[in-house]
Amino acid sequence: MKICRFNDNRVGEVVGDRVFDLGSLAERPPGLVREGDALILALESLKATPEAERRRGPDYALAAVTLRSPVAAPGKMVAAPVNYLKHVAEASADPAVVHGHTQTDIGLAGLFLKANSSLCGPSDGVRVRFPARRTDYEVELAVVIGAAGTAIPIERALEHVAGYCIGLDITLRGPEDRSFRKSIDTYSVLGPWITTADEVPNPGDLDLRLDQNGVPRQVANTREMVYGVAKLIEFASAFFTLHPGDVIFTGTPDGVGPIHGGDVLRAEISGLGEMHVRVEYA
Ligand code: MN
Repeated sequence: MKICRFNDNRVGEVVGDRVFDLGSLAERPPGLVREGDALILALESLKATPEAERRRGPDYALAAVTLRSPVAAPGKMVAAPVNYLKHVAEASADPAVVHGHTQTDIGLAGLFLKANSSLCGPSDGVRVRFPARRTDYEVELAVVIGAAGTAIPIERALEHVAGYCIGLDITLRGPEDRSFRKSIDTYSVLGPWITTADEVPNPGDLDLRLDQNGVPRQVANTREMVYGVAKLIEFASAFFTLHPGDVIFTGTPDGVGPIHGGDVLRAEISGLGEMHVRVEYA
């Protein structure tokens, strides 16, 4: 299934170029978010709902709805640095990217966190805050956790995945800590919807690409990841419990470059769809 959030926090099922309205979900009060995102917690019951019932609501043209982040309230957003060797090489060769961040081994660098407040959906768009400094696009496979777990062994890791999205890890370049530079409002784009894990038998073989204003910039396959999805889940959960709705950004391939106000980014991952994201100056 492909499940989106659209317009004023409606839950929808994407079927071809239509969105079927599945209703809305009561969001959990602050303080309980750690236990899980409401949509992700409801996912199994949505999947178990007979198709005839899921088609009962009104439906809309996909192109006419406002796509929000499919996960509204992740307990945390985890992200992988230096997870594609060709990106490591390009970053190491470019002083404007590396800025003294010289660790090139993900096992030693570890993972970092992006602030939840940076999360937005494709229709919300990116608002660049520091136009005098360099800000880059980074397209990434994003993993949404469905079942809580800690110290998860790699062999069981994919059982904890609810589904997959396209992620944009928008990045201010500079000397500050990664978490600070990558946590600016709108700098974590998730969309266009969540594709449930049963539709993605091998997350380690997905084509991903990003075009900027129609020009191809990043073209890669997730098989190039140093740590694949299962390894990332094992690595992350060795340090902290993963909860339903937690998101893991799995790292970006080579081809990163600066964005500017007026840009349109088109991101696509095979089987997960495509999304268009506008860039403006804040
Ligand atoms: Mn990244």
